[in-house]
Amino acid sequence: MTVGFSLLSTTAHGARAGILHTRKGDIPTPVFMPVATRAGFRHISLADARSTGAKIILSNTYHLLDAPGPQVFESFGGIHQFMGWAGAVLTDSGGYQIFSLPGERSISQRGAHFRLPSGRRHLLTPESSIETQQAIGSDIMMALDVCVDSTSDEARTREAMATTHAWAERSLSAHALRPRGQALFGIVQGGVHPALREESAAAITALPFDGFAIGGLAVGESRNERESMTALCTALLPQDKPRYLMGVGTPLDLVEAVHRGVDMFDCILPTKMAQQGWAYTFQGVLEAMRPAMQYATGPLEPGCTCLACQSQPLGYIHHLLRVGAVQGVRWLALHNIHHTQVLMARLRNAILAGSWEPLYHELRERLPRRLKTPLLSPAESPSEPSP
Ligand SMILES: [Zn+2]
Repeated sequence: MTVGFSLLSTTAHGARAGILHTRKGDIPTPVFMPVATRAGFRHISLADARSTGAKIILSNTYHLLDAPGPQVFESFGGIHQFMGWAGAVLTDSGGYQIFSLPGERSISQRGAHFRLPSGRRHLLTPESSIETQQAIGSDIMMALDVCVDSTSDEARTREAMATTHAWAERSLSAHALRPRGQALFGIVQGGVHPALREESAAAITALPFDGFAIGGLAVGESRNERESMTALCTALLPQDKPRYLMGVGTPLDLVEAVHRGVDMFDCILPTKMAQQGWAYTFQGVLEAMRPAMQYATGPLEPGCTCLACQSQPLGYIHHLLRVGAVQGVRWLALHNIHHTQVLMARLRNAILAGSWEPLYHELRERLPRRLKTPLLSPAESPSEPSP
């Protein structure tokens, strides 16, 4: 078995609780995957990541292709042995970074030409993306897709979608040539055009993928567009396969997407927020740098069981941030990632217990509709993996 999915419970509106079966163990869903871009987490250690309860993480093929490179992963026997991570790993295809990074790149039917972070020119094809992800040895691979801005017109979005569909078939063929027990997910594109989303969902779900992702969101569309496209896609995806909304998002975004039937998420926001001195709480965002915090003798969030809240008063974390000590950001990043894990567990438990609606409405009231997000470069949009 590569990846299986057991659906345990669905609410009247379509929120789902299930189990994602991987070769690294069973993972309760909905699930949030912390991002280890270069096979390492930003600001926190591997032990910190383990302490948050995360069972599956995401790493970026675009970066791993450049350093350490596929040969190193082959010699170590895969990313788990390389970084000492016993849980599951999902790798993206490299597509998102290529299309979001500034600089020259070109797309042909064959693949994408672009520059790697080191400046080397590279051609990534659907086949070479699969070969690279096979060498990395992730448990779940993603098919290479073409991502365009949500603001792109219908013609441009259609063209990108058609290439995505052709590449999906080529990715499956490459995977079948040399199967290594990994799962492969297909990606539905189509921007914010409902007819294109329907066409894309029909084309991608006709292919024998192990799971399905909704791509091309969190790239410039409004919240309403994102939520309606998510609902439109999940209604067209099979019930018995996992669904992954790529690069989303804020705690409220996660709640809204779970409400619409999504099972899996990734986002760099927990660590990005920490870099700004901001902590997620169930009451909203706490600004740990505010002068009043220096006298706070309690934890960041009362009742939180993360390592930071269990061991450090907020006043001390405030001090570390003020003097620029790296541990300050570490404690916030650890807390924020832990918070997303706890949020997912709360959502799951409510779905299983039949108490989804009251929790959904409570969280919609409490969680901020907008986060004061830091100014990021276009390639580091708050809801997408960092390049
Ligand atoms: Zn905490």
